[in-house]
Amino acid sequence: MATRKIRLQQVEVDCAFCKGTGKDPFDLLSAKSGCQACDGTGKQQVVAPVAKCAYCGGTGVHPHSRLVCLTCHGAGQVSVPEDAVRCPGCAGTGKESRHIYTDSVLSCTVCGGKGVVDRNSEAARKVLEPGD
Ligand SMILES: [Zn+2]
Ligand SMILES: [Zn+2]
Ligand SMILES: [Zn+2]
Repeated sequence: MATRKIRLQQVEVDCAFCKGTGKDPFDLLSAKSGCQACDGTGKQQVVAPVAKCAYCGGTGVHPHSRLVCLTCHGAGQVSVPEDAVRCPGCAGTGKESRHIYTDSVLSCTVCGGKGVVDRNSEAARKVLEPGD
């Protein structure tokens, strides 16, 4: 079988959830508990190219909660496609436009909250070319 070279370059970023401190920012658990997003290291690895997480705005915190952002896992940065285009489903906000709960904004189902999609992806095409 052919060996395909995949250049996965990981970038180390400060964990946005704990702002790089490695400590639980909300002190929800015991004092000795470390940041749940980065396991107390204060750092996270994201595969390049990276961009600010659209869903949480780079905070690493799930909007309107004290939970780790599911899109970036608290890193505040997400791995995006090389050929990224603004997500047609959410116009780059990373948030679902149809609200089910007014106080809980769901992440965009097209881009998963990243705000961008691979321009050649199935999801992008479906939205860009509605109908058959
Ligand atoms: Zn952290
Ligand atoms: Zn996020
Ligand atoms: Zn989207």
